[in-house]
Amino acid sequence: MKQLVIVLCTAAVLSGGAAEGKMSVSKSPFGSLPDGRQVDQFTLTNDHGLTVKIINYGAILTSVRVPDKNGKPGEVTLGFDTLAPYLAGHPYFGATCGRVANRIAKGRFTLDGVEYKLATNNGPNHLHGGLKGFDKALWTAEPIDKPGAVGVRLSHVSPDGDEGYPGKLSVTVAYTLTDKNELKIDYTATTDKATPINLTNHTYWNLADGGKSDVLGHVLEIHADRYVPVDANLIPTGELKSVKGTPMDFTKPMEIGSRMDRVPGEPKGYDHCYVLNQEPPGALTLAARLREPASGRVMEIYTTEPAIQLYTGNFLDASIQSRGAVYRQHHAFCLEAEHYPDAINQPKFPSTVLKPGETYRQTTVHTFSMEGS
Ligand code: BGC
Repeated sequence: MKQLVIVLCTAAVLSGGAAEGKMSVSKSPFGSLPDGRQVDQFTLTNDHGLTVKIINYGAILTSVRVPDKNGKPGEVTLGFDTLAPYLAGHPYFGATCGRVANRIAKGRFTLDGVEYKLATNNGPNHLHGGLKGFDKALWTAEPIDKPGAVGVRLSHVSPDGDEGYPGKLSVTVAYTLTDKNELKIDYTATTDKATPINLTNHTYWNLADGGKSDVLGHVLEIHADRYVPVDANLIPTGELKSVKGTPMDFTKPMEIGSRMDRVPGEPKGYDHCYVLNQEPPGALTLAARLREPASGRVMEIYTTEPAIQLYTGNFLDASIQSRGAVYRQHHAFCLEAEHYPDAINQPKFPSTVLKPGETYRQTTVHTFSMEGS
């Protein structure tokens, strides 16, 4: 297929790797939706061998390639190289989830005295924005090219009543890759009626090999002394519990798999929201650190959000294969920076309500480095 390439910064994009001191963003067609609208993929490269790909369908992060300790770049996310499997249905690989990521119990809430009924798509509950969340919208995209960073800014307008939510919501998500090996995701939103909002990125990470093997040996640290206990439907009970002395404790680096068999619930694994140690609330804070010993890859996640959901790919069941990998249970983890689940129905949780005249903002930064090189 003929590639349409817009090189905004340098010609390095066509060389298959960024040349010294050069960063680039390029755009190429990724396929068409059933109604004929074209989907584009944006490829960001920096001068340390990092490559990040984003499509404007679902504002999905489709690929991140990072050098290992020997300098050899490799895939570290689960995803697809073509549009069809994204349209066929997948468990939110790389997706921008909204209007409200995570669960809303029974898909119901009351705001300013009015009861709203949302689409339910996860048993009795609403998950990640409903049947047609932001992960299934075609966003408008424009490239970003500024000193030390390249990226893409995606915009979407969610109409009043979308999946049952009140108010017309205008959303932007900007992905930028910097010359300091940071992948930054900045979100904004404004509304014309009060509405809950909770945006996150749902990338499945596997720092060893992009999903060919399990992630149980990845060493994880989460800066959270407390977590949000949930019931059998993964809805918060309303309390916050200390992680101390439990398999939930990642305050010190621990292998993800080291205590997994002691985590209650089915299917096996973590699917829990951690309350970050964040002072003051809203400050960009180190939330989590991951180290994959064999490759030497290290990823840190900083966020302005109050919480992070650890999900260890418990529902992956080998039915999806891509990029030479069979995506089996625990072959990836997600760390979704966000507000607590079901916050709109939990008066004690930090509020997710956005009002007219306010601007929702969230920033999450992933930094990549190598140990043992
Ligand atoms: C949730 C899981 C859910 C998965 C869907 C995660 O964010 O916590 O329960 O199965 O998303 O891909």
